[in-house]
Amino acid sequence: MPSILSQQNTSEISAKSDIAGCDILPDSTGSAVTSLLQTEVDNWDPSAEGSEGISIVFVEQMDQLEQLAKTWGFKTSDIRQLSKHEFFMPGLVDTHIHAPQYSFTGTRVDLTLLQWLTAYTFPTEAKYQDSGFAEEVYTRVVRRTLKNGTTTACYFATIHTDTALLLAEIIDKFGQRAFVGKVCMDVNDSVPQYREITADSVQETERVQPIITPRFGPSCTEDLLNALGDLALAHDLHVQSHISETEEEIKVVENMFPAYQNYTELYDKNKLLNSKTVMAHGCHLSEEELKIFSLRGAAISHCPNSNFSMRSGVLNVQKVLKHNVKLGLGTGGYSASMLDAIRKTMVASNSLQINKVNETGLTIEEAFQLATLGGSQGLDNVIGNFEVGKEFDALLINTKASDSPFDLFSADEFENLADPSDSAITP
Ligand SMILES: [Zn+2]
Repeated sequence: MPSILSQQNTSEISAKSDIAGCDILPDSTGSAVTSLLQTEVDNWDPSAEGSEGISIVFVEQMDQLEQLAKTWGFKTSDIRQLSKHEFFMPGLVDTHIHAPQYSFTGTRVDLTLLQWLTAYTFPTEAKYQDSGFAEEVYTRVVRRTLKNGTTTACYFATIHTDTALLLAEIIDKFGQRAFVGKVCMDVNDSVPQYREITADSVQETERVQPIITPRFGPSCTEDLLNALGDLALAHDLHVQSHISETEEEIKVVENMFPAYQNYTELYDKNKLLNSKTVMAHGCHLSEEELKIFSLRGAAISHCPNSNFSMRSGVLNVQKVLKHNVKLGLGTGGYSASMLDAIRKTMVASNSLQINKVNETGLTIEEAFQLATLGGSQGLDNVIGNFEVGKEFDALLINTKASDSPFDLFSADEFENLADPSDSAITP
């Protein structure tokens, strides 16, 4: 049964479709989402941008059309029916991406985290003082992530305030929903020219709203963490950082901060762990730490591409979910594609099953949910699926787009894996 999805506002949703009022979905959306994953769509319409501020007012079946038109005061002739090979899906939510690292994307995957930071990342990030260089890379990363279907992204910039603001401007120009963090770090012995004075770090952070971004434990003093915690609390801001990515990093944190029981406590006691926090990786978090995450309502960003590239570890997604911890996916590694993040999430899960850590692996539907609704849950939960009251943040997928990276076959059809009695559209 076809469904009707309506948004409150008649703004243009995508340049290609120019939809106003209502859209009729060609089939139940559950099947549409599944179809996307099975055919591995990389070619979504680049013009299908997030549509901030448009709320979904109803999701109903097609046979209710006449009644709905009366109730909501629209003309049935204004409805645009999607063709058989088109469908909507929730925009992808990238909960962890380093915009400056896009300049070396696809390379530099031969070292572990701390060596990788020193050899490649810190020297590269230091170049973002130059606004010309920053503008070129930041423009490309925003365009690329949008093209890959990322309608919402949680960005790390660098320690440079002006170019972090430039990144925010570029994002705004292209219409992506995003959080931009000016990275804070007042410790860096390996590349000392790439760090800040504590007071400057705090003061400069106030210029870029709204996500507080201590890089990670080893690059911050306790004074900086504490001041950033105060700032987050005072302005009710989101927080992002890294946690327990590698065992080597955890040892550094233990040596630097012996008064804290564990890495999670370091952030928690400095007021950086709450329902507005997204922590990347968490591969080696203990049960006890996961319980604190759950209690505080803090989210984890699973970045399997990065974890495999740097031999950091494998996050046990099922264990995290059992602890009721919010969990989304992040690209965070050598690919800026959330589709890659979904694939690598499956690989990570499969590897845990191969090694008999888990009895079963994740399903593709579960991985897709993490890439949309899961990510949204750590970022105010206003998008991520098509529920009434949420903002309409969607991708219009055309599986027959020209220059498509995959082939469609005449026998292909949407497979309905959703509960047919459920008219709500959820991943
Ligand atoms: Zn990261």
